[in-house]
Amino acid sequence: MSLMITPRASWNALPPDHSVKDEHGLFDPRTNLGGWRVYTEPLDQVLRTIVIHHSALAPTFGAAEIQRLHIEKRGFADIAYHFVIAADGKIFEGRSINVRGAHAEGANTGSVGVVALGNFEEAAPPEIQLRATRELIDHLRSSYPHITHLAGHCDFNQDSVCPGKHLYPLLKILAREASLLYGTGGYVRPQY
Ligand SMILES: [Zn+2]
Repeated sequence: MSLMITPRASWNALPPDHSVKDEHGLFDPRTNLGGWRVYTEPLDQVLRTIVIHHSALAPTFGAAEIQRLHIEKRGFADIAYHFVIAADGKIFEGRSINVRGAHAEGANTGSVGVVALGNFEEAAPPEIQLRATRELIDHLRSSYPHITHLAGHCDFNQDSVCPGKHLYPLLKILAREASLLYGTGGYVRPQY
């Protein structure tokens, strides 16, 4: 199945910055668990759960702005999410799918981070954005057959309201439509 995903270069993504505070340096299982982790295992064995977010910002605030915010203010080496879905349904590549995300504290290893632009505490996501989200979920599921679950950010981090009260109740439906299980039950803790 072909899905149009706009590559990083098209939104002038900055290269990852390994001097940042929170995701500093390169991952090392003995000395730097929080560093930039390029998966060494085959991706189709690593990726298990899709985690859905909202940006909690105006939908015009796009991938480039979020990347700068994450690097400069949050101390992440790159944009935290792997995919960005705009209000008009366009899908953008975020951080490389080959790299652990920084979007769900304690549950990033093996999780694919997907953010829908907008604040869904305040408004409902447009249908075209939901359709794109469905298409991306189908694409991920067929590309990485060990993905079994879909969850919202707040399912993993209970102090968060992400992805917002207007999107959160739809996640169970999105999971069912994609023949995925819902929730945190598919998360596999790393073995180090
Ligand atoms: Zn989130």
